[in-house]
Amino acid sequence: MRILLVRPPSSPETIGLQHVMICEPLELEYLAAMIPEHQVTIIDLILEKKSFTDLLATYKPELIGFTGYITHVNIIKNLASQAKKWSVNSCVTVVGGVHAEVVPEDFTDINLDYVVCANGLETFQEIVRAESQGEPLPTDTGIYRKGKPKPLKKKTFIAPHPDRDKVARYKKHYYYLFHNPCTLLKTSFGCPFDCSFCFCREITDHAYFCRPLDDVMVELETISDQEIYIVDDNFLVNRERVLSFCDELERRNLKKRFLIYGRADFIAQNRDVIKRFATLGLRAVIVGLESCRSKDLKQYHKGNLPSINEEAVATLADCGVDCYATLILGIDWGIAEFKELKKWLLNLNLVFINLQPFTPLPGTLMGTIHNEQLRVPRAAYEKWDLAHLVMQPTRLSVASYYWQIITLYYSITLRPSAIWSLIRRFGLYENLQLSVGSSRVTWQYLKKVLRNLVKTA
Ligand code: SF4
Repeated sequence: MRILLVRPPSSPETIGLQHVMICEPLELEYLAAMIPEHQVTIIDLILEKKSFTDLLATYKPELIGFTGYITHVNIIKNLASQAKKWSVNSCVTVVGGVHAEVVPEDFTDINLDYVVCANGLETFQEIVRAESQGEPLPTDTGIYRKGKPKPLKKKTFIAPHPDRDKVARYKKHYYYLFHNPCTLLKTSFGCPFDCSFCFCREITDHAYFCRPLDDVMVELETISDQEIYIVDDNFLVNRERVLSFCDELERRNLKKRFLIYGRADFIAQNRDVIKRFATLGLRAVIVGLESCRSKDLKQYHKGNLPSINEEAVATLADCGVDCYATLILGIDWGIAEFKELKKWLLNLNLVFINLQPFTPLPGTLMGTIHNEQLRVPRAAYEKWDLAHLVMQPTRLSVASYYWQIITLYYSITLRPSAIWSLIRRFGLYENLQLSVGSSRVTWQYLKKVLRNLVKTA
């Protein structure tokens, strides 16, 4: 079969990290590896210059697989509609990805034939097999069927290594901040913690499981890039596993530089592990600090304290590892809370921060709690980007809330000491490139401020 695997573009409405990072579509590379007997092409519509209809005419797909986040729901439906029109309904359309796994009903659409909500790789392989042989799909596959119980998800991951050659023509465009060029690697799935705002844990139905380390290392040995972005929801779960990973890096003499996700409590309590990992290439950790206030951390079921966050930031700094801090901004915040966070971040001397207004993502515990307080309807999917204010702030106007986000962000990142340190480490050119990206995000925010000022005037 001729198969197109498609990563959709972002909507202009989405306030996007795509201005400071574009990573390879790893899930599509895995799908391609599952069906080597077919003629598979991966299309990255973030980077493609040609229109989707031109690409359809070029590749003439018999089956199209889409992946995407919540922000892509309407875009995928639109692309599926174009594919059906172009093929006069003969092209089979399939959608999967993290949002389809958790809220598959959002993809109910006349132009989408299959919504994959469990065991993505095997289910897609089954669909391709059934469609290419003209056979019916077994009823126990991971397809969403309205009104039927959700299929069970497997707690193991067995798959061939991703087919990275399929995106070789886009390779030079993939990067993450200063990690350039960089390759993604997945070693585990889910997370054993239960933060109430977290979407990741819902994808695996709250299970946590790992790939065998041997298999991970064999894959790592095949990757030529030095920069590796480990996209596990939480790589720092098990002290012994992280140490074994370090042992293997040493034993195989692998010289890589790693960007990972990890929790503050692990970092604070396992300083020796972080120190050793740093000598073997750990370069940056994305840490969900979430807040400087115990009250918020408790509300989010984070199982952490501000003091542990502080210790983790200090530990990373001592070990020469960057902390990319993510923070959730409370919907009940006033100017005092923004000031308190600014003071705390300045004291911690953080340079990399990602500020997210609290977003009750559908499918999460907090997503069901706040359903009635939304200012952005659920169907405006492109605005559910963890940057828009989807809930009505309770103490500030919308314009003023967005303004607080912009000023807080720049008061941390535009300190002369922070800028100088980045230029010294990464050079002027890379910094200028990133500044252009982040100023696009700022412009998107400024437009929100102006639009909302006009509305209230
Ligand atoms: S620790 Fe991180 S990945 Fe794990 S549940 Fe909490 S927010 Fe999600």
